[in-house]
Order: sequence, then structure tokens, then C-alpha cells
Amino acid sequence: EVAHALETYRERERRMLEERNAQTRSLDARVKELQAQAEQAERQLAEQRRIALTDTLTQLPNREAWQQRLSQEFDRWRRYGRPLAIAVCDIDHFKSINDSHGHVGGDGVLRSVATCLRERLRDSDFIARIGGEEFVILLPETSAEQAAVAMDDVRKNVAALMIAMPQGGEARVTASFGIASFVEGDDIDRAFTRADTALYQAKREGRDRVVVYSGTLAANP
Ligand code: GH3
Ligand code: MG
Ligand code: MG
Repeated sequence: EVAHALETYRERERRMLEERNAQTRSLDARVKELQAQAEQAERQLAEQRRIALTDTLTQLPNREAWQQRLSQEFDRWRRYGRPLAIAVCDIDHFKSINDSHGHVGGDGVLRSVATCLRERLRDSDFIARIGGEEFVILLPETSAEQAAVAMDDVRKNVAALMIAMPQGGEARVTASFGIASFVEGDDIDRAFTRADTALYQAKREGRDRVVVYSGTLAANP
């Protein structure tokens, strides 16, 4: 009698254990499934974020990305005071490229110049396209003079490009550059304004050149 009762008890125990194991397995599977879904959602979010911050034409960071990075680098500059230079690059007479080669030709020029910037500058330099044919570069740990050397290298390489045009033939372009560095008393926009002032000087003085801002009131253009 006792032996039979014990056997029945063991049998019930075994069945309960089996059931619990099955439950655990199905919970495990569900957890894995949810994990996979969460990972996919995260990947999609990261991809959407990347797209929102990327210029589709050149694959460079766009204006929105520029604002974010500028704000980060500006905070870092204020905290640590390490050198930080800013460069603005604008393609010369770009309207005439569009006029003679069409918009598609113009787009090809923008892509080639973007590639040139990416290839000639450092990975630590941040390059963005913030307008039609206007690029900006943030150069951490770089003085205005060092930035001028780097940009002059880009300038020479842009001038040497032979860019294949859709209707045949090749286009050549030049670009002008304005440079400024962050100085005591700057707010987030002042250095950019100085770089832009230097760019206009480069345009006035004949284009295809690099000008470093040199005002008397460096922080107050
Ligand atoms: P400058 O040497 O003084 O810079 O002269 P510019 O002709 O380059 O300057 P301007 O600002 O007069 O003209 C810029 C032109 O860029 C006007 C517009 O047709 C063209 N543009 C702006 N965005 C794009 C773009 O995304 N693709 C193409 N193909 N052209 C663009
Ligand atoms: Mg231009
Ligand atoms: Mg322009």
C-alpha cells in the first residue's frame, strides 16, 4: 500500500516537473523572440537616426548633425580650452556649373568635392554639408594656422579634380575657404561668423584661396 502510494506520488511529481520544464522552454523561446524584436527596433531606430543626420547627396553629415556636433565640440572647448578651428568651404561660381552642365552635373561636382574633403582631412575632423554648395569643417586640436595648411591641401586637390559630366566631358572647379579658431569670450556662433567673414574675403580677393580671419577684435567680428 505504502509502496503504491509512493509510486503514485512520484509519478505525479515527474509529470509536474515535465510540465514546468515545458513552460520554461516556451518562456525562454518567448524571451528570445522579444529580445530579437527589441534588437531589430533598435537597429531601425539607429538607421532612422543616421538617415536624419545624413545629407543624401554626399553622404556627409547634414546641417542638423552639424548643429549637434558644433554644440558638443563647443562645450568641450569651453571646458578644456583645447584648440578648435572651424573652416567654411564654398565652391566658386557653382551656378555656372549648373548652368552649363545641368543640375545632375552640379550634383556630381558636390559629390566629388565631398569625397575630396573626406579623403584629405583627418577622421577626427568633422565635415558637413550645410547648404547648397557650402561645407563646414570642425578641426579639434588644431590651430587656425594648421587648419589653413590642411584646407590649402584640400583646395589644391579640388582644383585638380576632373569631374566627369553626364552629357560627356569633364568639369573643373575651385573652392574658397574661410578659417577661424575659437577664442576667449566666443559664444557658439561667433567663430563661425568669423570664418564666414574670412570666406567672403577669399571670394573678394579672387577665389580659389584660403583666408584665415584676422580681425582686430577677434572675438567680436
Ligand atoms: P561664388 O563663387 O560667389 O560662390 O558663386 P556661386 O555661383 O557658387 O554662388 P551662388 O550662391 O550665386 O550660387 C550657388 C548655386 O548653387 C545656386 C544653386 O543653383 C546651386 N545649388 C544649391 N544647392 C544645390 C544642389 O543641391 N545641387 C545643385 N546641383 N546645385 C545647387
Ligand atoms: Mg559658391
Ligand atoms: Mg554659397
